[in-house]
Amino acid sequence: MREQLIIGNWKMNGSGAANAERVQGLIAETAHISGTAIGICPPFPYLAQVRGLLAGTAIRLGAQNLSDRTEGAYTGEVSGAMLHDLGCRYVLVGHSERRSLYGESDAVVADKFAAALGAGLTPVLCVGETGEERQEGITHAVISRQLQAVIDKVGIARIAKGVIAYEPVWAIGTGETASPEQAQEVHQALRLLLATQDRSVADSVQLLYGGSVRADNAAVLFAQPDIDGGLIGGASLNAATFASICRSA
Ligand code: PEP
Repeated sequence: MREQLIIGNWKMNGSGAANAERVQGLIAETAHISGTAIGICPPFPYLAQVRGLLAGTAIRLGAQNLSDRTEGAYTGEVSGAMLHDLGCRYVLVGHSERRSLYGESDAVVADKFAAALGAGLTPVLCVGETGEERQEGITHAVISRQLQAVIDKVGIARIAKGVIAYEPVWAIGTGETASPEQAQEVHQALRLLLATQDRSVADSVQLLYGGSVRADNAAVLFAQPDIDGGLIGGASLNAATFASICRSA
């Protein structure tokens, strides 16, 4: 039985005061939720603040990115070891904004996945097709290529130490959500791809859906057999909305 997991990606939003209000609200609103794991990924500068605010709660901390290197002369980079030191459990890897805006290739994403594992973090690997790719009918080819690049780097067994998030690019931040059937179909394809290489990994790895999840569409998405929770962007910035999404899992 896979645990349900909901992770909030705050992206480049927040301030000391806004974070305190949001996290305190989230703690109050989620206090009675059981059986669903909850994580939040604030921007780097606020990880220590949010770690302090979360102390003594079950809400887990994550980061939005990490370096593919471990240490050294890499100005502006943040290593997995630093994130681990700051109390992070999760780190997003290969978010579509990193791939499209910052040129992260499949190879770099695979290196980051490996770096996260090496630092004792749980990488959340994001895969997904653009709108054009879906129209061309190459969704499965795209997500298979993105996932296989990571499998080739770390080996199939170590995929089980991460989480995979299917995030259709056309649904991220657009208000357009994949239908439950569309999302389930791709999640099933991801699980089948894993199963051809290791059935136990396929059965155990958590697959999250991300892309304009809201309080009013979360339950039907999370009810799909191969969807184990969600990666939530915009809607994670409001404590009451995010808590409502968490209650839907
Ligand atoms: C995301 O950034 O991972 C995401 C899913 O964003 P949104 O929920 O805003 O579409």
